[in-house]
Amino acid sequence: MKILHAASECFPLIKTGGLADVVGALPLYQQNLGCDARVILPFYSALREKISETHAIFRTDSFAGDVTLRYAEYQGLKLYLIDAPHLYDRDGNPYYDCYYRDYSDNCNRFALLSWAAAAIADGADQLWGKADILHAHDWQTGLAAAYLRHWGSSVQSVFTIHNIAYQGVFIGCDLARIWLDPMMFQMEGLEFYGNVSFLKAGIFYSDQVSTVSQTYASEITRYPAGNGMEGLLAARKREKRLTGILNGIDTDIWNPATDELIPKNFTAKKLANKKICKNTLRRNFGLNTRRRLPLLVMISRLAEQKGADLLARNLENRLDAGGLNFQFVILGSGEKYLEDWFNYLAWRDPKNIASYIGYNEKLSHEMVAAADAIVIPSRFEPCGLTQLYGLAYGALPIVRRTGGLADTVFEGVDGENGFVFNYEYEHDLGLAIDRFVATWKNQKQFEAMQTAAMQEEHSWEKAANNYLEMYLSFDIKSAKKEGEEL
Ligand code: ADP
Repeated sequence: MKILHAASECFPLIKTGGLADVVGALPLYQQNLGCDARVILPFYSALREKISETHAIFRTDSFAGDVTLRYAEYQGLKLYLIDAPHLYDRDGNPYYDCYYRDYSDNCNRFALLSWAAAAIADGADQLWGKADILHAHDWQTGLAAAYLRHWGSSVQSVFTIHNIAYQGVFIGCDLARIWLDPMMFQMEGLEFYGNVSFLKAGIFYSDQVSTVSQTYASEITRYPAGNGMEGLLAARKREKRLTGILNGIDTDIWNPATDELIPKNFTAKKLANKKICKNTLRRNFGLNTRRRLPLLVMISRLAEQKGADLLARNLENRLDAGGLNFQFVILGSGEKYLEDWFNYLAWRDPKNIASYIGYNEKLSHEMVAAADAIVIPSRFEPCGLTQLYGLAYGALPIVRRTGGLADTVFEGVDGENGFVFNYEYEHDLGLAIDRFVATWKNQKQFEAMQTAAMQEEHSWEKAANNYLEMYLSFDIKSAKKEGEEL
């Protein structure tokens, strides 16, 4: 089976969040299953620095200017790269500038990514021929299925929603200018309240839609989690064209027994070295190492979605009430008021709270290896990866019961592996943290939970098999017919 993944991020080449981890791992595991899985990406400057050898496949004039399609291989990944320096050769984040302002030509940049993905899937690389599946990820590649439909292509399309809150809505986007049929601009198409939505295009025109956990797949068919797409997604669910497949973790990268980024390796059976990781981190951040205290961490984009404000409020309340009975380290970047808030908390109690504002892959490994618990108080969470890393490294997750967090972290039932709260209130989160601290004090019980969590299976093998099953079970002709009748 020939599969082309289209995405705007791919670890280890370019990453801002979990999407990159998925696109960097899934194709490799699909290759292990005997598929020919490739990835198409913009040739950002960050990629130019890492990939030394590429082969030009073709050069063409496009609606977004002169483009060369290149092929390269990198650490086992087979890549198509869209070489258009005027669009992609920018330092830093793939989506916005240093002031967090979206690039003004994002419509062109990601329409071109979608167009090139559809073209390669439809056989533009004559050596590779047509793909069996075009698997597009998130709004940046949502138009790919629209191009395939416009061309009458027989390539099957799958669209995976990693986060429905980001929709790629563009005002005044002229479909003819980006080489699509203007007739697609209608409710039964890619129009969304008078604008063009790339995400809606992906949901509407793809043969199959998936998202990254079963609970999220169900949540997004309803208000408010559907963010305006709930009606369309509920229809897809009724047609059995909406699936939830939980992400896995790449155990070559996230494995405490072999991880080269942490001070000492450890396993479920030999947890002693985890304490060395904990003390190293505490020392590196200048935290008090003389007191025996549990260590809580958070590793996250600092966006409203992640509920970091609930945690900051809770920490501040604890400081006002006399201090913490645990220690806390945060690694994250994003909204300025949250960055400032955590820096302020660390300034108030530098012996127990530390903050690192920025993006740091190595530190994220060190923190999850050091921690007794990892907190993820998300307002919504399609899948979430950090709780899975936490489980693998014996950092028990403290999570809100939503999306993929609800599918992977349990409290008070069989298979208890963390601490779960229900409501978006700092108080509810605070009670979950208190339960963690109380459990931690009973070291025997806590270590038994850690050991069991570390032995859980969250591998990509399982997810890759589930995707394959979805591709194989899908009858393209009947689905297309249903789509036309919608
Ligand atoms: P999302 O994709 O919504 O950001 P996920 O939990 O699915 O959330 O994935 C987040 C990924 O990004 C994880 O691999 C996490 O370790 C990583 N990450 C987030 N913030 C940082 C940071 N500041 N430094 C290093 N890694 C980070």
